[in-house]
Amino acid sequence: MRLSAGAGRRLALDVPIEPLILGSETYTVDPSQVTVELDVSRMTGMGYALRLRFAATLEGPCMRCLQPAAPTIEVEAWEVDRPGGGEELSSPYVREEVLDLAAWTRDAFALAVPVKVLCREDCVGLCPICAADLNVAGPEHRHERAPDPRWAKLGELKLE
Ligand SMILES: [Zn+2]
Ligand SMILES: [Zn+2]
Repeated sequence: MRLSAGAGRRLALDVPIEPLILGSETYTVDPSQVTVELDVSRMTGMGYALRLRFAATLEGPCMRCLQPAAPTIEVEAWEVDRPGGGEELSSPYVREEVLDLAAWTRDAFALAVPVKVLCREDCVGLCPICAADLNVAGPEHRHERAPDPRWAKLGELKLE
């Protein structure tokens, strides 16, 4: 994409996003072609400041209870590219005034995805003993503990 010179410009562009693999699960992105808002401003002197904004929904299993999860991820990212400005002012997505918007969109989305994808923030997950969904089973779900043999011995002593 050619960046035109001049003051600020706002562009709306459609960019495809591929599914993400998190853990061993595949999470699809809805929409798979997301409309991003790109602000391009020419900095004083040479170079560009870029801002990328979009929102997309990640769809896949909840990492706690395995039920479907579909959190909406809001993304906002910035890049600065200034020729001769050194490493910090050189965007990896800009080459010869051409912006690799697909790569930037994909990376910015991957960075914005939470460490744990959950069906809801307070998902309580599965019972560690029987794998029942505790969101459904409720807080009263519990198992009888096997009696500790040491306490059993103590009980015998008391009985004598
Ligand atoms: Zn869940
Ligand atoms: Zn259980």
